[in-house]
Amino acid sequence: MTHPNLRFQARGHYERHVAKLHGALPTDSTPAVRIYEVSPRDGLQNESVIVPAEDKVALVRRLVAAGVRDIEVTSFVKPSWIPQLADAKTVIASLRDLYTRDDLRLWALIPNRRGLERAIDADLRHIATFMSASETHNKKNLNRTRRESITGLAEVIGTAKESGQTVRAYLSTVFGCPYEGDVNIEDTIALSLDLLSLGADEIALGDTTGMGNPGQVVEVVRRLTDAGVPVERIALHMHDTRGTALANVLAGYQVGVRTFDGSVAGVGGCPYAKGASGNAASDDLVNLFEAMGVHTGIQIDRLAAAGVFLAERLGRPLPGRYHQFHMGSSSDDDAQSQSA
Ligand SMILES: [Zn+2]
Repeated sequence: MTHPNLRFQARGHYERHVAKLHGALPTDSTPAVRIYEVSPRDGLQNESVIVPAEDKVALVRRLVAAGVRDIEVTSFVKPSWIPQLADAKTVIASLRDLYTRDDLRLWALIPNRRGLERAIDADLRHIATFMSASETHNKKNLNRTRRESITGLAEVIGTAKESGQTVRAYLSTVFGCPYEGDVNIEDTIALSLDLLSLGADEIALGDTTGMGNPGQVVEVVRRLTDAGVPVERIALHMHDTRGTALANVLAGYQVGVRTFDGSVAGVGGCPYAKGASGNAASDDLVNLFEAMGVHTGIQIDRLAAAGVFLAERLGRPLPGRYHQFHMGSSSDDDAQSQSA
């Protein structure tokens, strides 16, 4: 059963969009796409600078004020694995007033049973699990086979559902594996169906190293839906390593996907780590969709301001295109009129 929090109006959106093209105004302001913000977790875990907990909390509050309704705020992995997120407990405790709100979903990434216990202890209601679509990436990243991951996740997801959690299941390297190259779509289908049958509410297909292209996105989504995965339970998590994230998102939208992951200002991807790369920038996603008349529920200026705040805290320029436009237009209002 789909968790009610994850329902959204994919069909309704399309009808409203068509009505708009024919001259009738949309009848409500329900967001037509859902932007799932990953900057506090996926973004910051890949930065060389460790951002203090109070700044992470301030970032989350700015994102909420901009209208973001899904935010992955931290990860309950062993602090020694990811020192950038060692303050998970403090961050969560400081956000208690937000994550009990019914209109917001604050998520934490959890690696195993122990992580789940920590999330439950903190009263978090939304958790995300992860594994890879490719065997080699799964072994290198998680030190187990995909089958072993599924067995472990059976317990984690089952326990999470019993305690009333919403579960997102990340499947990494769906669009290419840095070790194996092409990833078999049949494997993605089998693992997605397994994860749904274990109780996952949503499958987030990850283009972990930005190897995907729009044609492939269309094919993967179509094959998954043909195999019985409801399109409203698919999310796309794109990285912009090769500059294709936005095109991949648009391709996903055109075949019915309505949940897209983004990281404000494209944060993530340490400049000192080889092969590291940023997520799709959520301000780029919001700008794209709003320009198309597809309502996101997010105020772009406030979102961009959250990106500026984060860039200042990290002390480095961030790669998001809208972010850079926003920085340029706020520092020199005349620039546009002077250039072609
Ligand atoms: Zn990512």
